[in-house]
Amino acid sequence: MTASLEIVQGDIAAQTTGALVTAANAQLAGGGGVDGVIHRAAGPELLHSIRAIGSCPSGSAVMTPAFKLEAQGVRRVIHAVGPIWRGGQSGEAELLAGAYRRSLELATEAGCASIAFPAISTGVYGYPIPEAARVSVSTIRAYLAKHPGLNVRLVLYDRGTLNVFLREASKLGT
Ligand code: ADP
Repeated sequence: MTASLEIVQGDIAAQTTGALVTAANAQLAGGGGVDGVIHRAAGPELLHSIRAIGSCPSGSAVMTPAFKLEAQGVRRVIHAVGPIWRGGQSGEAELLAGAYRRSLELATEAGCASIAFPAISTGVYGYPIPEAARVSVSTIRAYLAKHPGLNVRLVLYDRGTLNVFLREASKLGT
């Protein structure tokens, strides 16, 4: 089976992949941005479910059922906690890579054939988009090299972000 990474423009909540990733906060409190969109689509049970887990450190992720999103074929929601950008010298790249890596591991553990990610940390958390693109694409590619068979989709909300991701992905080569 071949591994694949697709980079597209779209709405994360509209994806039909087996796992959907949301950009959560460490308190697992539910939030605005992409997290608000996923919580609205999945329904209130999603919040109950992550509250039962409690918290998740930056650089990691936790997994719950997908509730109402199951109607569109999504089996799991993965709540990834990326770092807040503090200038780049506070371990941000390793934490961002960790959030992607743990999400990929959880999807594999759950037997999901596909997973969709938003651009974690690039909204309220302020991570510069070109740097975030390099970390996410290289982390996903490194994972796929060892775990072929998973289909990964990076879903960027606006065209500007999409173009930066496509440019950085091509600079990194294949
Ligand atoms: P963080 O707190 O990790 O920075 P945000 O939710 O503020 O998370 O933003 C993460 C990224 O998700 C931003 O680039 C934002 O533009 C993007 N985004 C917002 N809504 C959606 C959506 N519906 N689908 C995909 N990406 C989205």
